[in-house]
Amino acid sequence: MAQTNRIEPDLQFIRDLQAAGGESLKKCYQCATCSVVCPLSPEQNPYPRKEMIWAQWGLKDKLVGDLDMWLCHNCGQCSEQCPRGAKPADLMAAMRNMAYQNIAQPAIMGKLMSAPKYLPVLVAIPAVIFLVVWFITAGFGTPVDENGNVLWRLVFPQTAFIDPLFALTAIAVALIFARGVLNLIKTFNDSPQAPVGGVPVMDVLKSTWQVIKDEILTHAKFKSCGGDNTDRYYGHMGIFFGFIALFIVTAYVGAAYWLGVFTGLDLKTPMSLWNPFKILANVATIGLIIGLVLVTKRRLNLDDAKFKSCYYDWYLLGVIWVVVLTGMFSQLLRLANVPGIAYPVYFLHLVSIFMLFAYLPWSKLAHLVYRTIALGYARKVGREPKPQV
Ligand code: SF4
Ligand code: SF4
Repeated sequence: MAQTNRIEPDLQFIRDLQAAGGESLKKCYQCATCSVVCPLSPEQNPYPRKEMIWAQWGLKDKLVGDLDMWLCHNCGQCSEQCPRGAKPADLMAAMRNMAYQNIAQPAIMGKLMSAPKYLPVLVAIPAVIFLVVWFITAGFGTPVDENGNVLWRLVFPQTAFIDPLFALTAIAVALIFARGVLNLIKTFNDSPQAPVGGVPVMDVLKSTWQVIKDEILTHAKFKSCGGDNTDRYYGHMGIFFGFIALFIVTAYVGAAYWLGVFTGLDLKTPMSLWNPFKILANVATIGLIIGLVLVTKRRLNLDDAKFKSCYYDWYLLGVIWVVVLTGMFSQLLRLANVPGIAYPVYFLHLVSIFMLFAYLPWSKLAHLVYRTIALGYARKVGREPKPQV
């Protein structure tokens, strides 16, 4: 007697996928053009056609452990060529967006990051924290030091508040990411495509380190994607290295400040404009702005019929824009010594920095971590992209 396989579609999962950016998935008629044109998809068991049918059928179990969604580089070639306008690139991005919600805990944060209606809550959390501190330190006033200069620490003290808050945030984010990475590797190991017995975590991490050296730092995959990715390539380079440079400057300022607290040495903050770290910070800011302009321009010029930016894309871009612009203007306003505007702008700067870093494990930027791990896993199990011709 012939065996019948019964498929139980998860309708809510389909609706969630559509809401997360895969709204056109039902248009797919399985022609496989997308899998053929994808410049990265492996020749054996290629993507994204199979993901399209899994999504149409609501096969959540298959999609949740799908390694391939992380290998996709979101270049949009498949959506460009899809004859039905089913936007497979958007579906791959939507799957990743949903994964951010489930991998990192607590899951309620993933929910809050998933739709614009929750944005006021995300803003309110840091805004209330910083407003309470402002009230305690200065009663919402805009104090100046004995020389009449604006000094951030008069309102937001570094020793008692800023450094402990961001240090605790960094530790929490690191722990959430660590747990998320273990969850992700377990998901891959539990999938039917995994090698028998799975891949040990340490092996995945070693392989990931190789990927970081070979691909991430060089942005090599951007070059192997077809089409005109120039804006995207230079945009991501500007943002990526801009953030790394600013991280180095922040680490220097934090370390030097705390060294001063314990040794009595005076770092002299704010730093002079000619301090090498200050120069690095300003160059990084310019790189970030150039990167943001290129990425924003590309997103605004996308052909909506083929490729659509979703809330996750705009949330991240918007927050980075606010971080960079408020950082730049708070510095200018401090130098111009206009306390009445400088402090409110600096307050917005702190709120946006908190929104960028504290919510990192649930934002699109989390793909920096999860995708890198997935690439490491893929390399370990030999699931390499198709050879470039
Ligand atoms: S997504 Fe488009 S290109 Fe891919 S199989 Fe479906 S209809 Fe064909
Ligand atoms: S967006 Fe690019 S990398 Fe991703 S599936 Fe489509 S063609 Fe492949």
